[in-house]
Amino acid sequence: MTTVGHLINGEMLTDAARTQPVYNPSTGEVSKEVALASVATVEQAIAAAQAAYPAWRNTPPIKRARVMFRFKQLLEENADEICRLVGEEHGKISHDAAGELQRGIENVEYACGVPELLKGEYSKNVGPDIDSWSDFQPLGVVAGITPFNFPTMVPMWMFPMAIACGNTFILKPSERDPSSTLFVAQLAQEAGLPPGVLNVVNGDKEAVDVLLTDKRVKAVSFVGSTPIAEYIYATANANGKRCQALGGAKNHAIVMPDADMDNAVNQLLGAAFGSSGERCMALSVAVAVGDQAADALVAKLKEAMKPLRVGAYNDSSNDFGPVITAAHKEKVNGFIASAVEQGAELVVDGRNPDVAGHENGFFVGATLIDRVTTEMDSYVQEIFGPVLQIVRANSMDEAMQMINDHEYGNGTCIFTRDGEAARFFADNIEVGMVGINVPLPVPVAYHSFGGWKRSLFGDLHAYGPDSVRFYTKRKTITQRWPSSGVREGVQFAFPS
Ligand code: NAD
Repeated sequence: MTTVGHLINGEMLTDAARTQPVYNPSTGEVSKEVALASVATVEQAIAAAQAAYPAWRNTPPIKRARVMFRFKQLLEENADEICRLVGEEHGKISHDAAGELQRGIENVEYACGVPELLKGEYSKNVGPDIDSWSDFQPLGVVAGITPFNFPTMVPMWMFPMAIACGNTFILKPSERDPSSTLFVAQLAQEAGLPPGVLNVVNGDKEAVDVLLTDKRVKAVSFVGSTPIAEYIYATANANGKRCQALGGAKNHAIVMPDADMDNAVNQLLGAAFGSSGERCMALSVAVAVGDQAADALVAKLKEAMKPLRVGAYNDSSNDFGPVITAAHKEKVNGFIASAVEQGAELVVDGRNPDVAGHENGFFVGATLIDRVTTEMDSYVQEIFGPVLQIVRANSMDEAMQMINDHEYGNGTCIFTRDGEAARFFADNIEVGMVGINVPLPVPVAYHSFGGWKRSLFGDLHAYGPDSVRFYTKRKTITQRWPSSGVREGVQFAFPS
């Protein structure tokens, strides 16, 4: 059995005292095992990153950028293999894995511009013979902890920019689908990173806790579920580290009565069921305004869902694949059952679909539930499966209030033809990423990504301009070179 190990100081190594099985969710079989790093292994990675830091910090930004250019090229040359590894361990169909990889590559492209991004600010003559400038310096050793659902893209939200800014990095990927992440890191190494600049430790809480408490780690980026995000943020802060921790979501779409219903249905299908709903930006709730709009929406969705295909990752005619584990399949099925028990109407039941030849895969088919209310467990909690719930509201105000009252505030969307309503929605909704007739408003790499409320702990969003600020600290230098012959006397007043 292949053991997925670690990348430390440019070398692959395995500490196999503790391991965990890695499944192929399309077959339900164990495909590999992953080594779970011990405290000593994580400390070894931190030491390697610490040793590599001084030289990397002083490497000119243009040379660091050149590594990013080569990395981008290697990612493109190896795209098929990366997507195959994602599919095998996550279950994503290749077209979906390719989309994820492309969004990751766009973050590498943005990091290629790091000499421009680090230029700083300069003011001449702030006083007699005095100039002042601000410089953005790297932090040192920084760490990233990532979730299973985007095993290539989310790590690339973090390490390319962190490294391009002059930091050294330790990545702790999800232990559930570690191979594509490790392969991508190996490509970054091959692109020309000196040993120790990028290290990958596979593992679980034991590895994470070292990264959260070791004094040598200066900052932690986290993406995952909200309870863990909260723990990471509190622990990292208590240990004096800068931290950004992105959590879970419950993304609502408002469907207004004037919306182009056919377009809204098409957009909702992809955004609710793509990647089996295992996206933090998945639209899992559609709030229809008015019973007429709700009835039309449900009827059209029911019809449009008939041809949807759930199946194995390596058949590109499938629309989406399995969920990540058998336990997660049971959890999603449990939410569907609870919605029915609590009074909702199950319109399309996707539980236990027939997937010929893959009877043991972790499949849940596309599910539609109508007349969901805000007290139901399936509404309150994140399901993270291919389940679209319809909530009926009497007005746009009522629909917006529901969204604003929800504990999560990651993404949202409004489907309408009314510009005034859309503008009001964008201005007043308590959510970090807003779409207007755009179901998955995931910002491009040169903006930044982040939710509000309990979808993000911290001040700065992920990637884009905020990531340059997150992975650097500002230093402001004020310099005087007095003109010859000028001598100032002693002054006790505050300089002005
Ligand atoms: P998770 O929280 O279970 O795991 C995320 C990471 O935390 C993994 O690397 C895992 O090993 C580690 N971890 C798990 N338990 C831990 C513990 N007790 N102590 C320390 N570390 C621990 O999340 P997941 O199931 O891998 O990913 C799905 C979740 O991530 C969903 O809630 C989804 O909404 C969220 N997500 C959010 C975003 C975003 O940008 N807001 C993006 C992707 C995923």
